[in-house]
Amino acid sequence: MGAIRANLQAVNARIARAAQAAGRDARAVRLLAVSKTHPAALVDEAYQAGQLAFGENYVQEALQKMDALARLPLEWHLIGPLQSNKTRLVAERFAWLHTLESDRIARRLSAQRPAALPPLDVLLQVNISGEATKSGIAPEQALALARAVAALPRLRLRGLMAIPEPSPDAAVQRAAFGAVRQLFERLVREGLALDTLSLGMSDDLEAAVAEGSTLVRIGTAIFGARGMTRDAA
Ligand SMILES: *Cc1c(COP(=O)(O)O)cnc(C)c1O
Repeated sequence: MGAIRANLQAVNARIARAAQAAGRDARAVRLLAVSKTHPAALVDEAYQAGQLAFGENYVQEALQKMDALARLPLEWHLIGPLQSNKTRLVAERFAWLHTLESDRIARRLSAQRPAALPPLDVLLQVNISGEATKSGIAPEQALALARAVAALPRLRLRGLMAIPEPSPDAAVQRAAFGAVRQLFERLVREGLALDTLSLGMSDDLEAAVAEGSTLVRIGTAIFGARGMTRDAA
């Protein structure tokens, strides 16, 4: 068995165990394979092992893999920051954006989404740890931005994404994920039709699933460690 197939099985088993421990249905947690810095051949290998959804951080790097693998029915998610000069490429080529954080970018994406494609699925990135350097909106801004995005015709607001400050302590991980879940629940109570919480990476997926994640973004545990080189976005 190939290494990637075995790694995918191990990650899916971790998700299943975490879901079971939380009394959740494992089918409610989707796996996004984060292929940034890894070549198209490894994405193909993961596809051969049954994986369909892939996350990339850099637009140009993602486009190269999309072109190389155009024959495959893959679902591409942008999970890295999006600059306004790249919105058209994202509107035209991606299925999901996890890092929406401004009304202006949202309006551009909606205007640029081709009529032949379904609406772009989007998540608001929330800065839950409050670090000045991290991307994402402050939790207090989420309701206003969610309402603005939900009103755009060619975007479909699906939920929230966050990257809490890494911690080796499972209780600290859970507290951060739990704060995102509470914000999500508040938006749902306000009438927003959300179904996706993008939380959890290779080192903290158990805590994320325990706190209600419906989409875990896993790179290292599937593809191995990333090298030091990476393509500019
Ligand atoms: C790289 C990355 C991941 C995957 O991280 P791993 O620790 O390799 O699983 C998930 N989400 C985002 C936003 C990333 O940039």
